[in-house]
This record gives sequence, C-alpha cells and structure tokens, in this order.
Amino acid sequence: MSESLATIAYVGATILFILSLGGLSNPETSRRGNLYGMVGMTIAVLATVFGPRVTMAGIPWIIGAMVVGGAIGVFAARTVKMTQMPELVALMHSLVGLAACLVGFASYIDTSIVFSGAEKAIHEVEIYVGILIGAVTFSGSLIAFGKLSGRIGGKPLLLPARHWLNLAALVVVIAFGWQFLQAETMQAGLLPLFVMTAIALLFGIHMVMAIGGADMPVVVSMLNSYSGWAAAATGFMLSNDLLIVTGALVGSSGAILSYIMCRAMNRNFISVIAGGFGSGGGTPAKKAEGEPAGEVVPVSAAETAELLKDAKSVVIVPGYGMAVAQAQHTVFEITKTLRERGVNVRFGIHPVAGRMPGHMNVLLAEAKVPYDIVMEMDEINDDFPDTDVTMVIGANDIVNPSAAEDPTSPIAGMPVLEVWKAKTSIVMKRSMASGYAGVDNPLFYKENNRMLFGDAKKMLDEVLTALKA
Ligand code: NDP
Repeated sequence: MSESLATIAYVGATILFILSLGGLSNPETSRRGNLYGMVGMTIAVLATVFGPRVTMAGIPWIIGAMVVGGAIGVFAARTVKMTQMPELVALMHSLVGLAACLVGFASYIDTSIVFSGAEKAIHEVEIYVGILIGAVTFSGSLIAFGKLSGRIGGKPLLLPARHWLNLAALVVVIAFGWQFLQAETMQAGLLPLFVMTAIALLFGIHMVMAIGGADMPVVVSMLNSYSGWAAAATGFMLSNDLLIVTGALVGSSGAILSYIMCRAMNRNFISVIAGGFGSGGGTPAKKAEGEPAGEVVPVSAAETAELLKDAKSVVIVPGYGMAVAQAQHTVFEITKTLRERGVNVRFGIHPVAGRMPGHMNVLLAEAKVPYDIVMEMDEINDDFPDTDVTMVIGANDIVNPSAAEDPTSPIAGMPVLEVWKAKTSIVMKRSMASGYAGVDNPLFYKENNRMLFGDAKKMLDEVLTALKA
C-alpha cells in the first residue's frame, strides 16, 4: 500500500473514531457508535499492517501476534462476567501502559535509525515522556485491577508526607531526564531511563493505593485518560499519526469523563490531577463500628408487592447488587406489570452506581427498559418527596444519607439519591453489610425504610409472582 493511500485510510479511520465517540454519548445511538469504532479500527489495522512501513519479512510476526492477542481477547470476552468488566478494563489499560514502555525502550535501543541535533533531542524527549506515562499507567492500572477485583482492600494507604514524596519523585524524574538527554552513548542513557521507569512504577502504585474506595470511579476514568496519552506517546515514538490522534481522543475523552465523575462525587478536579485526592481530609474510609444505629424493619416479598401495587409513583434505584444478581430482566418485568396497572415507574441513576461509568445504563438497556423513564440523579432528586415507594436494588453508597448529614463520613459531600424522602423506601440486599466505600448506612434504620433481605434476583422474582397473583 502506498504512503498516500495509507494516509487516506488513516484520515477515514480518524473520522470514524470521532463519529464513534459522538454515537457513544447517547444510549440510542451507542450501537451505531460501536459499529463506527469497529470499522475504523479494522481500517486502521489493515492500513498499518499493509502500509509502507511494514516489510514483507515482518508480516508473519504481526499475524502471529494478532492470532495470539485475538485469541486471548476472544477468550476474555466470552468468559468475563458483566460484573468483572471494570477489572478487565483496568487490566487492559495496564497493557496500553506496558506497550508504551516497551515501545519506548525498543525505539531507544534501536540503532537502525540515527537521529542528530534537535531531532535527536525531540525523539529522546518523546521516549522519556512516553515511558514515564506508560509506567505510571501500567502500575496504577494493575493496582486499580487489584482494588476493583477485591484482591487489594479498598482502604486508602496514606503514607506520611505523601505529597512531599510525590514531589521528590517528580524532581528526581526531571533531574534524570536532564541526564538522559545529555548522555553521549545509548549505554549511558539507559541508566537514567531505568531509574525513571522504576520511580514512575512506584508512583503509579502509590497514587492508586492512596485512593479511598468511594473515589475509585475517578481513578478508573483517569487511568482511562492516561492510557490514551500513553498511546499518543507511543504514536509519537513510532511517528504514527493515527496512533497520536486516537490516543489524544481517548486521553481527552477520559479527562472529560474524569471531570464528570469528579463533579458527580463533589471532588476537586485539580486536586485529583495533583494526586491529592482520596478521602478529603485524609481520613481513611472506616468500617462501621460498635452498635447499629437503631432497629431495622424487614419486609417480605409479598408485602413489597402490596406496597408497590398501592403506589401511584415508584422510583427504582439500582446499584452494584443488581449487576451481581443479574436482576435487570426481572426489574423490567416488574416495571412493565406496574406500568400496566397505571403506576408511574421511573429509574434514578447515580453517576457512580455499580463499578464502572454507565454500568446501570448498560444493564437497563440490555433489559430493554425504555430510555425515557431512566433519569439521572439531578433530574429525579427533587421528586422523591412526591414519590410513594422507592425500591433500592443492591445499592448502598449511592443512597447513603451520611454523605449529606455527617461531615466526618468518608463519603461526606458526595451527592446521593435522597430515597429516604419518599413515603416508603425499600432496600433490597442480602445482609447489613456495607457497600464499596465500607461505610455504615443510616438509611437502613430510618422509620420509613424497610429491608427486603435476600439475593436481588430471587427476591424480585418473588415480588413479580406476588404482583401477578
Ligand atoms: P455498593 O457497593 O455501595 O453497594 C452494593 C450493595 O449491593 C452491597 O451493599 C451488597 O450488600 C449488595 N449486593 C451485592 N450482591 C447482591 C445480590 N446478589 N443481591 C442483592 N444485593 C446485593 O454499590 P453502589 O452501586 O450503591 O455504589 C457504587 C460504589 O462503588 C460507590 O462507592 C462508588 O464510588 C464505587 N465505585 C464505582 C465505580 C464506577 O465507576 N461506577 C468504580 C469503582 C468504584 P449485601 O452484601 O448485603 O448484599
């Protein structure tokens, strides 16, 4: 394939990626958005593999790598459960970071292309910065994977003087960067490069270890953004325009998503970028201690069905537990039955519900819940006082009143769905256990709250049977 044909293919792929992002911003057009992305990526891969920069001798290697990578991808896509998606995404981000590091080292020790003067300096800055971003993304994403999969506890690790440690690391990285640029020989440049990589890896670990459980959504979207910048850096090192553009698209859309998540959690974007985030004043998320704050009132599935039948308006608030129980289809059946009886049923979606951005929207769309009854938190929060029943399905942190009422709570200041303002709230979960942030929930003890204990799918099946009886 000639250079100009490859360039045209790259421009086409870029346009498709932009259309894809546009499509993904709305549930109704997201399928089309995905399709654009898939076609764009196919064109991009073909134009690269058969492009002017790959020799015939390289093709078998590339095909071999694609077969291995593709097989792992197909296996992962088939076996990973929907609830494991966030961890899988974190793991994939780590691979982008690792690729940036490896490409960086490879382009540094590659002696086939000789740069000189300003070009050499620019190339070396690209390598240094590329490996830096790649290493932070790699180790940070691995820790995020550990935290999301529960292999590493949600408690933030708050080292004394952690900000000073980070600042010192930054100074050392800059100093070694200078030394790297001054190095006369490739061998002399390798030492500063290795030292910087080690510091960047430690920084990535430290950054994510310091994040409290409830702040993980911000980290996930930030690492998403970092992985984009790491890809862009790889594009610079390989002089591949498409990779630069794609990386920048992922990097900037991830940054916008981080901003949205910060706003949703009432966190300061700047302090997040500076790595000074976590649990506000630095108090680790603590498990509830001592005596429970009152009595809880359990209800049965049949009583829940009665409450729902008698209601004029119902708001359903799904959370991570609905994803675990895979209860979305039964939720839709209940919604249909209630709507047929004239009940006004709507859904209230918290921006950080579940374990990844848009988690609940994906599940509800899968169950074919109409989009027009799925409301964002801001759209529905004022309606709770006029709501008869709120049904909280496997959600906990996102409906925790202590965020608004207790300034010492690790989730203080985070806007939540104010379900307790409805006439009756029903919380469906298996036990009194806390949610991801590890904080006790005073909602359970409120006078107008009822607890429906059990697996969400099982309990909702019982509610549906009772509703239809
Ligand atoms: P939570 O983790 O706060 O609560 C989920 C609740 O679901 C648990 O308390 C659990 O209680 C219950 N549950 C689990 N399995 C079942 C089941 N099979 N049937 C019924 N209930 C079940 O989830 P939320 O959605 O309320 O809040 C999300 C949390 O995750 C926030 O803290 C957020 O910051 C964090 N987070 C969000 C990310 C995102 O991008 N959205 C990313 C990373 C973290 P029990 O064990 O008693 O059943």
